[in-house]
Amino acid sequence: MKLKDKIKIITRDVTYIRLEVKNFQIRLIIPKSQIHKADEIISNKRNWIEKHLKLIDTVIEQTKQIKIKLNKDYKTIVNRSIKKYCQRIQAYPKKIEYKKMKSCWGLCSKSGVIKFNDKIKYLKQELIDYIVCHEVCHLKIHNHSKAFKQLFYKLYGKESAKKAQSELRNFEFLLLTSKTN
Ligand SMILES: [Zn+2]
Repeated sequence: MKLKDKIKIITRDVTYIRLEVKNFQIRLIIPKSQIHKADEIISNKRNWIEKHLKLIDTVIEQTKQIKIKLNKDYKTIVNRSIKKYCQRIQAYPKKIEYKKMKSCWGLCSKSGVIKFNDKIKYLKQELIDYIVCHEVCHLKIHNHSKAFKQLFYKLYGKESAKKAQSELRNFEFLLLTSKTN
């Protein structure tokens, strides 16, 4: 099978031609007027494509192994979790948002807005707790310094944190929707 056959080519009016991974598939988004460049782009990006094809295979394998189910109550879990940790450190977020994010589970801005990747809806409570606790700690400390870790371990527990961290790695593939430049 040629490399090109493994890629879905989508013609769309975009300013920039791009390669992306979506729904376990590599897609080339290209304006119709430039479709003649497709072969060249694919050959130039061969490394990226091959790397991501491999990644997709791994992901599909993992998906089969880990039964992923939607946690319908995830917002309730998040809210409960936020309340629990915020009360302990006496710091509260200004706002909580849910976004599709490509590289992280959560973000906390300096102004106190916490954003969660909406893919946390596929995670179980302990892992949601882990992510929430991390972001809540950022309300007090905005970096990943020793002080941050101390605070985090105090709230979540060092042993539990290590366990959650390694377990969360199994779900990183959920974040997979990367683009090339
Ligand atoms: Zn962080």
